[in-house]
Amino acid sequence: MTLSESIDEMAWFEQALLALEKSGPTGRASAAFIRQRRVVLGFSCQSTTGAAWFDWRRWWLVWPRGGVFLNTDYAIGDPDDPRLYALIAHEAEHLRQGVHEALSVRGELLAWQLHDDVLTEASAASSAPLWEELRSLAPDSRADLERARQIMRHLAGPRYRIHWLPLYPLGKEMAYRFRHIFCPNGPVNS
Ligand SMILES: [Zn+2]
Repeated sequence: MTLSESIDEMAWFEQALLALEKSGPTGRASAAFIRQRRVVLGFSCQSTTGAAWFDWRRWWLVWPRGGVFLNTDYAIGDPDDPRLYALIAHEAEHLRQGVHEALSVRGELLAWQLHDDVLTEASAASSAPLWEELRSLAPDSRADLERARQIMRHLAGPRYRIHWLPLYPLGKEMAYRFRHIFCPNGPVNS
């Protein structure tokens, strides 16, 4: 029996959702999204991440199953811990964004900013200068997204594969690159 099977997974996530609902307006909206969409919640084995919005071992037709999956290491954690329910809100935000936005630096920046909103409303946010800077970055500025990528890598560690993602969601990124082939000196942020 694995660690996550030895606890009542459904009860753990229900308690975490109740804590998220009580944490503030951002957490309440996130929990409402999870309940309305009947988002799958669970623990899964993850070697490089603390949480994910899909699980490679659970498939739905030809796609990995969407949901919010926390690393099994957190199964012994307290579901009332803001750091854990903020992770749930972060991954749920990726599901709300959809695949293209979620797989971009822009989508990550927005999810990190929402993550920090949940922590701020729960009086558990970090006051580290890099977090403050991350909060101030604009998701539509390529220069800010480049900086966000550096900061997120620094905060999450070298195994965080943010450098694999395009800055903008895929369609917008391709349109940007296509335009700049023909107009290399055009506006940088358009
Ligand atoms: Zn994320």
